[in-house]
Amino acid sequence: MRLTKAFLPTLKETPAEAQIVSHRLMLRAGLIRQTSAGIYAWLPAGLRVLNNVARIVREEQNRAGAQEILMPTIQSAELWQRSGRYEDYGKEMLRIEDRHGRPMLFGPTNEEMVSDIFRGYVTSYRELPRNLYHVQWKFRDEVRPRFGVMRGREFLMKDAYSFDLTKEGAQHSYRQMFVAYLRTFARMGLKAIPMQADTGPIGGNLSHEFIILAETGESQVFLDRELLDFDPLAQEPDYEGDLSPTVGFWTSRYAATDEKHDETAWGQVPAERQVSARGIEVGHIFYFGTKYSEPMGLRVAGPDGSEVVPEMGSYGIGVSRLVAALIEANHDEAGIKWPDAVAPWRVSILNLKPGDAATDALCDRLHAAMPDQALLDDRPERAGVKFADADLLGCPWQAIIGPRGAASGKVELKRRATGEREEVSLDEALARIQ
Ligand code: ATP
Ligand code: MG
Ligand code: MG
Ligand code: MG
Repeated sequence: MRLTKAFLPTLKETPAEAQIVSHRLMLRAGLIRQTSAGIYAWLPAGLRVLNNVARIVREEQNRAGAQEILMPTIQSAELWQRSGRYEDYGKEMLRIEDRHGRPMLFGPTNEEMVSDIFRGYVTSYRELPRNLYHVQWKFRDEVRPRFGVMRGREFLMKDAYSFDLTKEGAQHSYRQMFVAYLRTFARMGLKAIPMQADTGPIGGNLSHEFIILAETGESQVFLDRELLDFDPLAQEPDYEGDLSPTVGFWTSRYAATDEKHDETAWGQVPAERQVSARGIEVGHIFYFGTKYSEPMGLRVAGPDGSEVVPEMGSYGIGVSRLVAALIEANHDEAGIKWPDAVAPWRVSILNLKPGDAATDALCDRLHAAMPDQALLDDRPERAGVKFADADLLGCPWQAIIGPRGAASGKVELKRRATGEREEVSLDEALARIQ
């Protein structure tokens, strides 16, 4: 992509309404634009990051055995009347009416709908277990939408739903998602710690929130420092095998949100290992048994012919919130420092002298070698403007090319995260970046 042709609007001024760094940087770097309170349009660079986050989420869901579907955003109120949540959900649900006066709603979550879809097909225990997920926009009419996409009203969520014949089976499904979540966040370079959590309006009795530590987080959390040293990617999970040792490893150390905080258990954590901090909830998994399958009329024939009500769980990841959380975890005064796995482009090429034949040629060769992953700043702007914009947007590599280097075929390569610079040939640059 060439900047002279791109739609990548950046702002010089810090937007006054943005209270936290990720919101400020998302607006300044031209990732999103608010269209109404808590509702955002995603601009090209922001959308590329959002898609990268969603891709990693999908890869890890698929690997754990979940299957992708796509359910609609608009749901019929009737589904929710059946589960009893239509009244309970309260004002956070956006209720709408179609032209025939039928009550509809913009889905805040999909337990009812997925149960209804499943009921339409599955009649035997042989078709269990199954886990279905989708990545779809949700609407929750938050009392206080704030911090940009961190707490939006419309937001992108991955939500998965598991169906099992037995409680033990459902717990295995829960552990599969637990492990998949650890891997998902780790692949984005985030340390998300599973913590005992409240179940809220989803219900059930077993639940973990996945939380990233950040000063701007809205939750108060308590954890054993040792959890911060574990690497979820250290070993390949066997999703069909027994995952209890892995899950047990994580749940054997203290980690809880303030709703579940237990002073007695906390007191047992050695003082030097006690971390009490603010955190951002990026994922949440629930096991809730037959809370939805029962009222939604889900029944299958068990192995002995008797009727069984499947056991369910649901598993959410805040895909759009993650984009903001990633910035909270990766930035400096100059701007964003995207981890490689989610960056909008791998490299910003800075042409310091557009119009100079050798400089243009070297920039074009680098750009042509990775056209989808390089952003070429070919604008007739001062070098200072280009440096500032490249730091703001935060692609992991910057390839700085001016007439002096171009004359000898050299590129100055800068690693955005560390600020390290080196002068290399075009081939070496490509080898590093790709
Ligand atoms: P919160 O406590 O932040 O209100 P929640 O507990 O209501 O979140 P869940 O029902 O657990 O949210 O939804 C699953 C995930 O969806 C959350 O872990 C979070 O990452 C994301 N999410 C929830 N509400 C929002 C929102 N308003 N904006 C962006 N992401 C959200
Ligand atoms: Mg909420
Ligand atoms: Mg919550
Ligand atoms: Mg939650």
